[in-house]
Amino acid sequence: MQQWVYSFGAGHSEGRAEMRDLLGGKGANLAEMANIGLPVPPGFTITTEVCTAFYDNGRQYPAGLREAVAAALAEVERAAGLRFGDPAAPLLVSVRSGARVSMPGMMDTVLNLGLNDETVVGLERRSGDSRFAWDSYRRFVQMFGSVVLGVDHHRFEEIIEQAKLDLGVTEDTGLSAEDWRRVVAEYKDMVAAERGEPFPQDPHAQLWGAIGAVFGSWMNPRANTYRRLHDIPASWGTAVNVQAMVFGNMGEDCATGVCFTRDPSTGEDLFYGEFLVNAQGEDVVAGIRTPQPLSRARAKPGEVPMEEALPQAYAELLRVREQLERHYADMQDIEFTVQQNKLYMLQTRNGKRTAAASLRIAVEMAQTGLITRQEAVRRVNPASLDQLLHPTLDPKAARTALSKGLPASPGAASGAVVFSADEAESRAAKGEAVILVRIETSPEDIHGMHAARGILTTRGGMTSHAAVVARGMGRPCVAGAGGIRVDYGAQTLSAGGKEVRAGEVITLDGATGEVFAGAVPMVEPQLSGEFATLMGWADEIRRMRVRANAETPLDAETARRFGAEGIGLCRTEHMFFDPERIGAVRQMIMAEDEAGRRVALARLLPFQKADFTELFRIMAGLPVTIRLLDPPLHEFLPHGEAELAEVAQALGQDVEAMRRRAAELAEANPMLGHRGCRLGVTYPEIYEMQARAIFEGAIAAAGETGEPPVPEIMIPLVATARELEITRAQVDRVAAEVFRESGREVEYLVGTMIELPRAALIANSIAKSADFFSFGTNDLTQTAFGLSRDDAGKFLPYYIDAGILAKDPFVSLDVEGVGELVRIAAEKGRGVKPELKMGICGEHGGDPASIAFCEGVALDYVSCSPYRVPVARLAAAQAALGAHRDRTA
Ligand code: PEP
Ligand code: MG
Repeated sequence: MQQWVYSFGAGHSEGRAEMRDLLGGKGANLAEMANIGLPVPPGFTITTEVCTAFYDNGRQYPAGLREAVAAALAEVERAAGLRFGDPAAPLLVSVRSGARVSMPGMMDTVLNLGLNDETVVGLERRSGDSRFAWDSYRRFVQMFGSVVLGVDHHRFEEIIEQAKLDLGVTEDTGLSAEDWRRVVAEYKDMVAAERGEPFPQDPHAQLWGAIGAVFGSWMNPRANTYRRLHDIPASWGTAVNVQAMVFGNMGEDCATGVCFTRDPSTGEDLFYGEFLVNAQGEDVVAGIRTPQPLSRARAKPGEVPMEEALPQAYAELLRVREQLERHYADMQDIEFTVQQNKLYMLQTRNGKRTAAASLRIAVEMAQTGLITRQEAVRRVNPASLDQLLHPTLDPKAARTALSKGLPASPGAASGAVVFSADEAESRAAKGEAVILVRIETSPEDIHGMHAARGILTTRGGMTSHAAVVARGMGRPCVAGAGGIRVDYGAQTLSAGGKEVRAGEVITLDGATGEVFAGAVPMVEPQLSGEFATLMGWADEIRRMRVRANAETPLDAETARRFGAEGIGLCRTEHMFFDPERIGAVRQMIMAEDEAGRRVALARLLPFQKADFTELFRIMAGLPVTIRLLDPPLHEFLPHGEAELAEVAQALGQDVEAMRRRAAELAEANPMLGHRGCRLGVTYPEIYEMQARAIFEGAIAAAGETGEPPVPEIMIPLVATARELEITRAQVDRVAAEVFRESGREVEYLVGTMIELPRAALIANSIAKSADFFSFGTNDLTQTAFGLSRDDAGKFLPYYIDAGILAKDPFVSLDVEGVGELVRIAAEKGRGVKPELKMGICGEHGGDPASIAFCEGVALDYVSCSPYRVPVARLAAAQAALGAHRDRTA
C-alpha cells in the first residue's frame, strides 16, 4: 500500500532530502537534519500525494490516511515522552504546510495544537509558568480560529485591544496569566457566537481541522497568485508537517530565530541572522518586535546579540551552521528555537538570495572546492542577472535624504509613493513607476510588491516578509525605516520634518537602506569581480555563440561590453527613422516610379554606409548580420498636412497627389502585406542601395581597423525558394560591382530569416541559396499561431490565467508547435547543406527556456537584446550542461 505518512526525529527518519517532491521542502529537510544527527523535535510529514489525491477526489482523503497519522502520532508521543490530549503530560504540535519549493507566508500554519481547557492546566503545571501556558492557549485559539474556522483575525485583535485598554497597558507583555485566561474565555465565546458551535476541545478534531486547512490553503487566492508568478504547477500539491512543539517563549533562557549561513544580500561569508528572546517564531517573521543580531561582530550599540544572551546555544548553532553548509553545499536559511538553553532546529532550506549574493556564493564555494565550477554555473538563475545589470544611484548626483532603514534588497528605484498593494498594481498597469510604502507587508500585498519598482516598510527586519519576498522578486527594498511615519488615512509619510504625499516621487537605495525625496539620477552597473569570473566559466562551458540584436552604436557598444560575439540582427529600418533621413525615406516610398525612388535612395546611401561602417568598426572583425528592409512601407508614410506638403515639394508633386498615393499604399493587413523580401523583389533598387552601403561600409571599416568584417546579409520574410534566389542574385551582383569599383573585396554571406511556416517546411529548397538561416521566432510565432504580435496582449493574459497556454508564446518559445517548425527547418536545411549556419534572432533568443531548446536543436548561436547578452551566455552554458537543477535565486 502507498505510504502516505513519513516520520522523522529522534536521530532517525523515514524520509531524506532527495524526497522533496513527495515530502515538500520543509519535510524532506527536517528528515535529513534528523538523519545527520541534528536536534529536530519529532514529527511526521503527510505527503504531497495526499494533497493531490485530496483534490482529485472531491476533497476526500485517501483510504488508510487516518490510520497512518494515528500510528505516526503515537511514535511522536513515544519520542517526546508526552501524550496528545493527556492533561498530565500534554503533547502539543505545530501543523505547517510545506510545498516542493518554498512559498513564504502563502499557506497556513497552526501552532500549539492540542491545547484545550484541560491540557492547558497540564502545560501550566509542567512548565511552572501560568502566564506562558495561558498565552500559548490564547495564541492557539486565535490561530486556529482564524486559519481553520475562518473567523476574521480582527475580531481577536479587538478583544486584546479592549483588554489592554481596560487594564491601562500598551504592550502584550503587560497582561498576566489571569488576564490571558479571561482573553481565552472571551475568544471562545466570540468564536462560538460566530460559528454557532463551541471551540473544538478534542485534540484529534483540532488536528484534522488544521490538516484540512493546510491542504485547503494550497488553493487560496494568494497561493494561486504566487504560483502563477513563479511558474509553480498546482498539481505539485503541498505536504503537511506535524511536529512536536518546542517553546521559545517559556522565559529568558528561551529564544527563537532565523538565520542565513551567509549574507543573503551580498553573499559575504558571514553568519547572518536575527533572534528574539522569549518569543515564538512568528514574532520574528512578523516584524512586530525588533529582533537582535546573532553575533557580537554584527551588533550595534544597545543591541544584545545571541552570542552574549545565550552563549551555549549560540556555540551549538555555529556548529550546526558549519555542518549544514558542508552537508548541503549551499547557503542555508535556518529556523531554530532555544527552549531552556537547548537548541532545536525547525527548518533548513537553500536560502533565497539576491542575484549578487547568488553569484558571490556560487563563485566562492567553487573557489574553496565545496562545489565544482559547473555546479556554480548551474546554480545562478540567468534571469536574475537582470538585477545586476540595472542601474544604481549616481554617486555624484545631488540628493535629499529622507530617512534610512535596512538594506533589505539591493538595487535602486524611483517612483510615485502609493500606500496600498491594489493601488500599486493599478497604477503600474498604466505604466507608472511606483514605490509601495507600507508599515509592514503581508502575503496579501504580494501582487502590489510585484507591480512596484521598489518597496519601503517602516517596521520589520532583514527577514521580515517584505525583505524576503522583495529579494526573491529582485525588487529593491528598504525595510524597517523606523524614522518614517506612515499615515494611511492622510495618505502621507513623514520623516525628519518632511512630508511626502501619495503620488510624489521618492527614491530607494536597497543596497544602503537610504530613502531620498524626488528622483535621484542613476548610473550603469560595473561588471567585474564574481560576475566576470562566473561569466568566464560559463563561456568555457557553452557551445552556442551569443550575439546581440543592435543597430545603434550605443547598443553595439553595450552589447560588446556585455560580451556579445557579434551582431545577430541589425534591423536596418530602425536606421531610417532619424529626423535627418525620414524625409528621404518618405520621398522613396511616395515616388511614383523607379526613377523617383532612385533619387531618394541616392540621398539615403551615404547615411546607411556611415551607419554600417560604424557598426563594423565597433564589432571589429566579429560577424554582423544586417537584415535588409523589412516592415510594411506604410509605417513610414507622412502624417498630417505639414509632412505631406514637405514630401510633395521634394517630389515636385501637389499635395492632393500625395494624399492619393498614401491611400494607395494603405493595406488591410500590413503585417501580411507588402513587406520583407516582397519589397526587395518588387522594388529591387531598395535592396541594391542597402547592399551597396553594406559592401562600401565593410571595405571602409576594413581599411580603418585592419580587421575586415564578414557581413552576413539577411533577407527577411522569405516564403519561397525563388524569392531568395532573386534577392540573393541582386546582392551578389552589387557585391561584384563594388569590389570591381574599389579594387578590394571582403568575404560575405547571404542568408535568410526563417520566420514563416512555409519557409520552415520547404527549408531544404531555400537552403540551396542560403549560407545561413536565422529563425525569426517573433514572426514565426505570429504566423504559426495566426496571432497578431501587436494585438495579442489584449486577450493573451486570459489564456495564460485559464491555463490554455502555459506561457506567453512571444516571451518563451512554444516548443510544441513553433519549436517543431524550427526543428523541421533545421533538419531539412542541414539535409542539403550540413555546414549551414543557424541562429535565432527573435525575442526568444534572450529567454533561458527558449535557449535550452536552441541547444537541443544544435543552433550555432542565439541573438538577443544587449542587456540580455549575459543572461544568454549563462543560459547557454546551463543548456550545454544539460537539464537544469533546482536553483535558489
Ligand atoms: C522576428 O520576426 O523574429 C524578427 C527577429 O524580426 P522582427 O521582430 O523585426 O520582425
Ligand atoms: Mg520578423
